Order: sequence, then structure tokens, then C-alpha cells
Amino acid sequence: MNFFILLACIFAVVHAQPPIFKIQQSEWTSLNKSIGGKLFAGTPMSLPCFSSYNNGTGYRYHKQDIKACAAVTQGKTDGPSITNYFGGYEVPNWGQCMAKHTGCTLSGFLPVDPITPIFGRCDQGSVPQYYIDSADPSHIHAGIVFAQKHKIPLVVKNTGHDHRGRSSAPNSLAIWTHNIQPELVFDTDFKPVGCSGGVGAALTYGAGYMFGQLYDAAHARSYMIAGGASLSVGASGGYTAGGGHGALTNSYGLAVDNVLQLKVLLANGTIATANRCQNKDLFFALRGGGGGTFGVVLETTSRLHREVPMQGSKYLQLLLDNAEKWADEGWGGYILPGLLSGTLSTFAAITPSLTLEEAKASMKPIVDFATSLGNINVPLTVNITTLPHGFYDFLQTPDAQTVGGFTGLNYALVSRLVPRANFKTPARRQELLNVLNEMNKNKLPNPVVPFYILMTTPAAYKLPASDELGGPGEASVTPAWRNSLWQFEMPAVWDPQDSTALLAGSDAKAFDNAHRAINPLRTITPNSGAYQNEADIFEPGSPNAFWGRANYNRLLKIKKASGSMPSATQPESLADPARPLAGPAIPANPPDLSNKIPKLEPRRTAPKQARKPPSTPGPETPTLSPPPTSPELSHPTRRILSPRDHELFLASPTYQLITSFVFTVADSVHGTPISSISKQSLHPFVISLLSILDVAQTILDENPPENTGSRFGNPIFKSFLSSLTDQATSLHTTHFPNLSPAALDEVTTYFISSFGSGLRIDYGSGHELNYFMYLLCLNRLSLLPPTTFPSLALVLFPRYIALMRNLQTAYYLEPAGSHGVWGLDDYHFLPFLFGANQLAAHPFIRPLAIHSQPTLDAYADDFLYLDMVRHVNATKTVQGLRWHSPMLDDISGVRAGWAKIYAGMRKMFASEVLGKLVVMQHFLFGGLLPAAEGMTAPDADEGDAGTAPGDGEVRVAEGHEGHAHNVSAWGDCCGIKVPSSVGARQEMRKRMGGEGLRRLPFD
Ligand SMILES: Cc1cc2nc3c(=O)[nH]c(=O)nc-3n(C[C@H](O)[C@H](O)[C@H](O)COP(=O)(O)OP(=O)(O)OC[C@H]3O[C@@H](n4cnc5c(N)ncnc54)[C@H](O)[C@@H]3O)c2cc1C
Repeated sequence: MNFFILLACIFAVVHAQPPIFKIQQSEWTSLNKSIGGKLFAGTPMSLPCFSSYNNGTGYRYHKQDIKACAAVTQGKTDGPSITNYFGGYEVPNWGQCMAKHTGCTLSGFLPVDPITPIFGRCDQGSVPQYYIDSADPSHIHAGIVFAQKHKIPLVVKNTGHDHRGRSSAPNSLAIWTHNIQPELVFDTDFKPVGCSGGVGAALTYGAGYMFGQLYDAAHARSYMIAGGASLSVGASGGYTAGGGHGALTNSYGLAVDNVLQLKVLLANGTIATANRCQNKDLFFALRGGGGGTFGVVLETTSRLHREVPMQGSKYLQLLLDNAEKWADEGWGGYILPGLLSGTLSTFAAITPSLTLEEAKASMKPIVDFATSLGNINVPLTVNITTLPHGFYDFLQTPDAQTVGGFTGLNYALVSRLVPRANFKTPARRQELLNVLNEMNKNKLPNPVVPFYILMTTPAAYKLPASDELGGPGEASVTPAWRNSLWQFEMPAVWDPQDSTALLAGSDAKAFDNAHRAINPLRTITPNSGAYQNEADIFEPGSPNAFWGRANYNRLLKIKKASGSMPSATQPESLADPARPLAGPAIPANPPDLSNKIPKLEPRRTAPKQARKPPSTPGPETPTLSPPPTSPELSHPTRRILSPRDHELFLASPTYQLITSFVFTVADSVHGTPISSISKQSLHPFVISLLSILDVAQTILDENPPENTGSRFGNPIFKSFLSSLTDQATSLHTTHFPNLSPAALDEVTTYFISSFGSGLRIDYGSGHELNYFMYLLCLNRLSLLPPTTFPSLALVLFPRYIALMRNLQTAYYLEPAGSHGVWGLDDYHFLPFLFGANQLAAHPFIRPLAIHSQPTLDAYADDFLYLDMVRHVNATKTVQGLRWHSPMLDDISGVRAGWAKIYAGMRKMFASEVLGKLVVMQHFLFGGLLPAAEGMTAPDADEGDAGTAPGDGEVRVAEGHEGHAHNVSAWGDCCGIKVPSSVGARQEMRKRMGGEGLRRLPFD
């Protein structure tokens, strides 16, 4: 008996193997060639976050892609973001295989850490295995022919908003229309092809446009286009093919009533232009017949309406009693009766037909009711106002956005068109009230409301004679639209990752529950119908409900005549939306086209929230004054020779100038990754500064370190400095020929002083500061305008750091002040300042992420802070930030995030760099950065004691003690010479030939 069962299973597997897996690789390849490489492998949107993937051929290891995962995570509940992914679905259950509960979906509610791979499995679900992404009709037709030939389901997908799974299908090929976005065409008097006259203002748009784009374009010309509340629904695809409603429908008609012309590619390869004058059957079918059924729409032209100011406004008995009156007054909009479930209620509607006073009078009953709730502490906002740009302004309101849907959450939606007749008499209203109360009691899982009432039927819209029954403009939507007051919706909502959210236990049961929940309303609206785009997938008698019998019969005839689309969306298949897929014995076809997967990064950016201006944390950024018109110039020398000098400096305009320059540069990189700075459009002087650093690198190459066997500073560094000093003037003359000798002298002094001390063979944050003072001098000489600041921090400065690392490694430069043990880094400070602000706007890299090697691998090239951590990790002889860099480790625990760290870094710059005598004793004052009055006069005998200017040892009187270099900011190591960890590591490597190092003191 077991034998027979086994045979039966194998038999079932062989038979279950879908045709797509039988197609030879060579056939895919030739299809791909014939369409210019526009064939791609379809993958679920969230795949980059997963570590195991099954595209229908079995599970395989999948390398997580942190960047792509982060982008997906960021946009997982954002409509426009999802539309940018072929494998993205606004209602994610339609990308899954609901029968098996497999798929590849992230939680819509819970944050996902893009850094940690999800070890769960990612299944193909209902995402098509291949898709064609092309605007060329011949390519699209090739796909249709291929699907016909191989008998595989063909899906037409635009934005992936469909509530009934018609833009996804397991084991299918898809045409992706989202990127068919040629330039928009405006006509003040559009003349449809074959018609004799113009029909008024119109907008012609390609198949891929979304409403948000059209609203903006129309508004820019003071027009409105009738569309829905969600900005990311496609205007040319399923919306119009299904009917299309919105807040303007009541006054201006459904989307189908506003379409003036459609261009469609038929299955036989012809492109038909349908309008009220030609191809009228097709025009009828495409406006209500359902998406993807009659061909692929390439282009739509819709009527534009002049923008007019509108009155905008905010139970159950009241809503019912006023429904007819409000409809006749032109009110269109959305009611979310949340009060019924104890949550926020919304009543957001507009009308172009009333004055403000009339609108207030019209809404008085609902306002009085809402006000009366005040004594039960219900927060109330009533706002009946004139919206100058009408619909466009309405769409910007939070209430309108709320009704846009639960993007990123699973959904089982059922709906019903509620006819005017149900509101006509008190008895009918009571009947409706009873039903609504009953449905409220038996509500579906939904975090917000038990149901939506959409005042989006064309109740007040008078169909023109041309569009009446039998006219050339008749549409194929259900006639129930024309006499209904409400489009009533009841969504069950649950998180894709929460298997317990559905008490019912399975997705199919959720749909079944939703199907039953709306039955009471069906019973009292027996002759009505449902909006096919938002309907129950188990809608009983769907031909009648979605189209009406007469329309359906005509559609069937047209369908037969227009040539067969190898559709994946036949109504019969909807009753079984998730058929079991093939078993494990599927061969390893299809070919791996993964290198053709378009970069998983949004192509078009979603309408951006205004970026929060960078906060000005820590010390303020003083305004950077414009460069002086005739700058004073003099040779820079040390002037801080006592604590008193230092105090004078801290109160001086030069202190202000330095902080304003450094902080303005730091502020300029808020949220900016290095890769976003275009290397092609660098300022010529920034390019010059880069070449000067290249020459410095060459000098280093020409002065290799001596093998001294010591872990301490290599004396050849002095030769490097002296060679650099020799060439500094000529180098700068070449790149900045207009600089006077005095200016050259001043600039090059800071330049030479920014590579370390030849006397002590050390380097620290004071030298780093000198490099920025060199840039500040160039700024004061009007050579580096503020537009260059981001590139100074993110292009030039990293090049300088790279050179400094080479010098540190070659010559074992000792960390000046020995900050390395306790500080951020042995040598540098500014990259942490700039880097913290770079990350301050980052959506997911949190301070703790510095402990994650994959994060450092993926992002260190883009963010200076992470680059510093990567470098520190690489140069220390012990593993773990906790041990080798306790300060970095502590900082990573800052919960308030990078903005707080940036604030801290600014404070540190003021207190630990400029505020530290041990650092500032070396600071050079000249004409561009003048010393304050009262500071000690330059002493001809001191300074220049080393091999390079600015290099000499200075005795600064600190209190009663003479103290040169042992005053450490973050820890003291008095008397003990500390080698750089770079030097220690390099030397041990040489000696031991490996990485296993002995612990060093302080290291
Ligand atoms: C968040 C949200 C908000 C919504 N708001 C509204 C609303 O306010 N008003 C309203 O009426 N509806 C609304 N809907 C429903 C919407 O109208 C449907 O989901 C519609 O099917 C979406 O069409 P699409 O082309 O954008 O999506 P897709 O899922 O890409 O496509 C839907 C259907 O259209 C077909 N199709 C797409 N492009 C073409 C083409 N070029 N040629 C032929 N067939 C094509 C597909 O094959 C599929 O059958 C909303 C849906 C969601 C998820």
C-alpha cells in the first residue's frame, strides 16, 4: 500500500510541474536577445534580507545584501517605494502563496534590522519568475507570443496595488508596465483620433504613471484630474480598467467617465486607439472590463478639470439621515467611523458645489454630534474650510492620506455599492442602520476601523448623453455605480509575519470570514453590485456584481474578437487564488538571469517628506563671515605660550572663525554619504588640492622608512617633511598662480604643519586641525567657496586621511598627546565629527552598528565614522572595541542616536581640541588667522626647532609646572613613551610574520 502511495505522490509531482519549468534555457535566452536584453528574473521585493531562497527550483543559500535590504525595509509600507520593485506588492499577500502560507514578506508593523540576515526562507510565492521591462510594444508583444507558445500564464503588472491578485501569478511571465513613462502631454483642446472636434483640456500619460505624478503635473497648470486618494495607484492600469473612484467622483464621474482615449496593444500585435469615435467596443471594454483582459494599455488620455476652490470638512444614524442630501450637494470623500471601535473617527470630504457658509450649514448635524461627544472626552477637530486648490489641497491632508490604505499589511477586502434606494425612507435607513451595527459587532481584524464608508460614487454626476447606455462612450462598469450613494468597504488586515493575527488560522479563512461578514449588506442590497477592484475574491455571481449581465455578455464577445491574452486572471482562477505549487522535483530551469535583476534601489523617489533641518546641537555654528576683500597676511607663528594666551584665544574672533568654519563644513554633510558627492563636478581648486596630496604621497614613496627595528618613530619622516617643505611653494604656485608670495607663505606654513612633527615624529589632532586651517586660509583668500564644503569633508579630507595613514604606517608616527588609549583614535578627531553628522539622518544605521562587521563592510566607504571604526579595528592588536577603544565603545551605546553623538563631537572639538592647551600651544597665528590682542609676542628664538616649520618644542607654563607633551586630554601616560598601535602592529608583523601579537601597554 505504501508503494502505491509513493507512486501516487511522484505521479502528482510530475503532473504538478508547471509549464514554465519545462522551457529550455536556450528559449529564454533567445527571447531575451530578441527584446534587447529586457528580460529579467522576478524576485520578491524582500529577498535581499533573507539568507535562503527558493525560486521554485528548491532552496539555496542566498547572500544577504544589507544595502538593498535596508532600502526595502525603509519603504516596505510606503506605496510609491513598493512600486519601484517588480517583486513588490502593496497588499503583500498577493506576492505570497497563500494556500501554502509561503512567501517572502517582512513584517509591516515591526522594524526589521537590515543588518541581521533573516534566516527564514524566502519563497517565490506568486511573484512571476520572469518579467519584461520595456516600453517597446514589440518587446511586450514578444512576451505575449512567448507565453502563448509555452502555455504559461502571462501577468500584466503596473504598480502591484491590485486587491484581487490580478498582477501576480505563480510560475508566470510578466509584462511590467511601471516604467512606461514617456513625457506627459498636455492639450488645451484634445482631439481624439478619428473625431472631428476637440473635447477640452486633457492629459495624455504612459501606462506607468501613478496618480501622485499626475496630480502634481495637473496642479502645476491649475488643473485637476479625477483619481483616487492613494498617490501610488497606477492611473492607466487596473484603476481605470476597473472603474476608478475618488473624492471627485460624485461631482465629476468615475475614472472611466473621464477617459477620452486609450492606446492598447492587442494580443495579435496591433496597437488600437480606442475612443468615442473609433474602436468603440474596445473603448467600452477597457473602461470597466478589468485589468489585463483585453490587451496591454500603453497610453491613456483623461479629461482635465479646472482647479476650483472647494469646501472641505469631519454617527451612524446621522450619516444615514444625511447621506442623500450630502451626495446631492456634491460631497465626495471618506468616512472612517472609528468611534464605533473606540478609535479615531474621520470624516474627510470636499464639494465644489457649495459656498463656505452653505458647507457649514450642510455639515452642522455632524459637527453638533461630534461636539456633543466632548463631554466624554473625545478629542475633536472640526475644520470646515475653503481649500483654494480644491482636490489637490484635499489630497495633502492627513485624513485623505489615512484612507490611502494599509500599505505593507496583508488584506482581505470585501465591499458593496449601497444604492440610493436604501436611504430613501426612515424604514430603509433603520434597516441599514441595523445591518451596520450588526457588522460592527462581527467586525474583521482591523487595527483602525470596522469599515470604511466611501462617498465616492458618481451620485451627483450627470452622465453625458454620449456615455449613456448604447452611446459611444458607454463604459462597462456595473450600472450599480450610477445609482449608489456609498461604496462600502470592510477590510480584514493582518501583519504578514504574524501567524497568530488571524484567529481563523489561515489566509484563505480570512477571505472566507470577510466574505461572510458582508453578507448582511448583500442581503439588503440584492440588485446592487460591487466595485471589482475592491471586491470580495469570492464575490457570488461576480459577472452580475462587477459588470451587470448585459455588460458582461458584451465583454465576452469583445474578448473573443480581440484575440486571446494568455491571461493569468480568468475569473475562475480567482476562486482559488493560491493553488498548490509544484513539488520539489522541479528541474533546475529556469536559467539564472539574476545578473539581470535591476538594482534593487528605487528609481523614482517617493514624494519626500521635507527633510528635517539639521539641528544645531552642542555649541552653535557661528555664521561664517565672507572672505575679507583685502586680507592681511603675515608669517604664521605660535602665540599661545601661556594659559593666559590660551584664554585670550578662546575669547577671540579667530576662535569664532575656526569654529564657524569647521562646524559649517560639518553641518554641510548632514545625511550625506560620500558616494553622493559627484567626482565629476568637483570644484577645480578641490581637484588641485587633491593633486597636491598626490605629490605628497609621491614624496613619501621616494622616502621609504629605514629599518630601525624600533616600534617608535622612524627618522626618515624628517626627510619626508623636508622634501615636502622644499616643494610646497612651487606646488602651490602651480595650482594657485594668483597667490602673492605673502599669501603663499601663510598658506604653505599651515600645509606643512599638517603632516606631523618632525622633531617628535608624532602626529595628532593639532596637526589635523592645521590641515583644516590651511583650507580655511584658502577660503579666506576666496579660493574655496561654501559650495565646496561637502567635498572638502567627504572627498579631500578622506584623501588626506588616507595619506596620513600611509605616513603613520610607514614612519610609525607616535600619537601626539597619547590619546590613542582612551580617545577615539590614535590620531584623528575630525572624521568622527563629520561622520557623526553624516549618519545623523540615517534611517537604520544606529550607533551600535559600529560593532557589526557586515555594516562596516557595507557602509564604511560611505561614512567617515564607520571608516574610522574599521580602521581602528584593523590597527589594534586586540580584538573588540570594548578593549582597544573604550570611548568608541561607550559612545556606541548612546540611545538618542547620531544627532546626539554629533552634538557631543562638537562639544569635544571645542573642549578637547581648541580648549586644550596641550594641543593649542602649537597653533599658528598669522594674518588670516590673527592672534588676539594681548597674546605673547612671537619669539624669534622659539619655533622652527624641528625640521619643519611649526615643529618646535615649546615649554608652556601650566600652573606652576613646565609641561610639554604629557598633558593628555583623555588620560595621562606621563613619562611613558607610547608607540602608535600602527607602529607596534607593523613591527610585530615584521618580527613574527603574523597577527598574533603580544599585548602592549596601553594598547
Ligand atoms: C492602497 C490602495 C489604495 C487604493 N485606492 C483606490 C481608490 O482611491 N480608488 C479606486 O478606484 N481604487 C483604489 N484602489 C484599488 C485600485 O484601483 C486597484 O488595486 C487597481 O487594480 C490598481 O491598478 P494598478 O495598475 O495600479 O495595479 P496593478 O496591481 O499593477 O494592476 C492591477 C490590474 O491592472 C492590470 N494592468 C495594469 N496595468 C495594465 C496595463 N497597462 N494594461 C492592461 N492591464 C493592466 C493588471 O494586469 C491587473 O489586472 C486602491 C488600492 C490600494 C492597494
